[in-house]
Amino acid sequence: MIAKDLMAALTADEGEAPAVGPRQFARLALRTWPFIRPVLKHMVTLLVAGAVSGLFVSVLWVVASDLLFNKVLIGERLQPLQAAMLALDESYVTASLDAKPAREDAPSEADASDDSQPTPSAEAAAADEPPLTAAQRKIVRDRLMIWFAVGALVVLGAIAALPYYGTWIRHRINQALRVAMVSRAERLSLKYHSQARVGDSIFRVYQDSAMIVNLVEEALIEPISMLCVLLYGIAFIAFFSPSLALACVVAAVPMIWLTVRFTPRIRRRALANRRAGSDLVSRLQEAFAIVKVVKANRAEGRILRRFDDDSQRALNAAFYLRLEMVLLSAGVMLVGGALVIATEYVLASWVLAGKETFLGAAVAALVGFVVWNVGSFNIGRQRIGDAAETGYHLVRVWCMMQDLFIGLQRAFLLLDLEPDIEDDEDAQDFPAVIRQVRCADVHFRYQAETPLLAGIDLTADAGTITALVGASGAGKSTLMSLLLRLYDPDRGQIAFDDIDLRKLRVEDVRANVAIALQKNVLFTATIADNIAYAAAKTTRADVEAAAEVACADEFIASMAKGYDTELGERGGKLSTGQRQRLSIARAIVRDTPILILDEPTASLDAQTENRLLGNLAAWGRDRIVFLITHRLSTIRNADQIAFLEDGRIVELGSHEALIGRPHGRYRAFVEAETSAVAA
Ligand code: ADP
Repeated sequence: MIAKDLMAALTADEGEAPAVGPRQFARLALRTWPFIRPVLKHMVTLLVAGAVSGLFVSVLWVVASDLLFNKVLIGERLQPLQAAMLALDESYVTASLDAKPAREDAPSEADASDDSQPTPSAEAAAADEPPLTAAQRKIVRDRLMIWFAVGALVVLGAIAALPYYGTWIRHRINQALRVAMVSRAERLSLKYHSQARVGDSIFRVYQDSAMIVNLVEEALIEPISMLCVLLYGIAFIAFFSPSLALACVVAAVPMIWLTVRFTPRIRRRALANRRAGSDLVSRLQEAFAIVKVVKANRAEGRILRRFDDDSQRALNAAFYLRLEMVLLSAGVMLVGGALVIATEYVLASWVLAGKETFLGAAVAALVGFVVWNVGSFNIGRQRIGDAAETGYHLVRVWCMMQDLFIGLQRAFLLLDLEPDIEDDEDAQDFPAVIRQVRCADVHFRYQAETPLLAGIDLTADAGTITALVGASGAGKSTLMSLLLRLYDPDRGQIAFDDIDLRKLRVEDVRANVAIALQKNVLFTATIADNIAYAAAKTTRADVEAAAEVACADEFIASMAKGYDTELGERGGKLSTGQRQRLSIARAIVRDTPILILDEPTASLDAQTENRLLGNLAAWGRDRIVFLITHRLSTIRNADQIAFLEDGRIVELGSHEALIGRPHGRYRAFVEAETSAVAA
């Protein structure tokens, strides 16, 4: 069964937005794992490729800078590796490295100096050697240009390919989620589909699901890397002055307080925004689906006004969400700005006073910021500015995460719905031949408070046509839906050859019951494709034979392209009667043991209908046929007539038997129909 609270959440207009704590976030991230796992190796490849190309570019950049500035412009000699890279001979190479053995002559000096620092003898050797000649510098420049060109190609290639690869990965993840959602929606029963709005389902599948793409990037990588930058910045400041670092931490308190205050409001707005978007899509979907009715009733103005209202509401919802985000950002920015100004004031006073930095003397060997001077002022100021900016960005990302989470929650809600018609664990194989369909004490209701079928008993044998008759709304179509297992009875049993339908696989049941509806749907395809649409394997001969039984062959033959005629959207090029005959042919071509015709002959003329029924009787010699119709001429040809009233079959028998009952319900129905036709 569909869990009540899930269903309520799905159809609710109001309601609190879910919280986004670390636990909920972790649960959500875990749920995305099945969609991420198939592309994990691509994600790793992308990361490695990004890191390698980044490393390549930065190494190349350092070497190239040295070559360009120190070698080409100043004329210093090249390191051996650089010369090798540029395929240059010994005359370009510096002698400073060859002078290294000089260190062994003076071990005491070597011990005192840092390993990476050139020894005095090496320095002396470098200073003594003549610089590169102008011609040599030109050669270095030209070869360097070749490397630049190669590097540019690699970089450009990486710039073009890596984001494309990343986009492909993200779309694969989104695609997997979308397909899973549609597959789940297809498995859900009609109970779900009759309660949920089509536009809402479309919005969930199309818009909400897209949030999975941002999850990894916006909700995981970005916040973590920003947090690292922030912590690194504060630690760096602490080396200069712990009190400055403390000031940053203190400034974070109002920022966090503001964020905590605003978060529930942002979540509510994000949910409202998504709901307004879903309403807008629903309205749009409805407007296009009923365009014919709208035009016929000259309701374009009204539909447009409603759309305008919904569109305005969606716009407002988006605006209010952004407004909350902007207000929070402004508050955070204000605190950050105050921090920067206050610390700059303090730093300036320290510079004026020549105050010592915290680790000044301790790190003097490495950097020269022993006291607060212009250099340390600049570094401190920059770090604090960076920390404030990162804090601000973190808050923005947090806001995005709320919306992302709300969207994903909406997407996953669809996946959480359990189909209420599922295969039994020990489902049986469908019998090779079906001789009988039996309904025993079948009860069913759509809504708890209004019972519809209240104890249906009916048996239909192979080779017979059973007509279901009764007032409109009596439940005839509903009973037929139960034969297809679109719903299961609340009580009682429907059995094919004494096998309860619940013991058969849904797939098998639907493969063995064909239905033609009054309101049939044709697709933008050829007539032949439309007829063959629901059949597993059909030849053109099968299609033509089915069209013949359905009395559709003549009008198809009169078309210039016959069975290859392309139909417009929803069969727009055909009359209602022609569409009905195609839908009957579509049911017939499936060649199933059970056939249901749910008022599909309503728009046929009497002559065609009679011919069709004659064909059907011959075709359905060993099949079980159910027919729902109001036409007396059709009903009287049925082998048995079931009269449905008050949720029960109150009369059952042939036309002659039922019409013979003086106060019978069927007789009254026939008399009413006859007098209505005569009038
Ligand atoms: P009939 O075929 O005899 O005209 P139906 O079986 O189509 O009757 O409908 C019987 C009643 O059930 C009607 O009142 C109809 O409004 C209601 N009904 C039909 N389908 C649904 C549904 N999916 N959800 C709720 N009520 C429904």
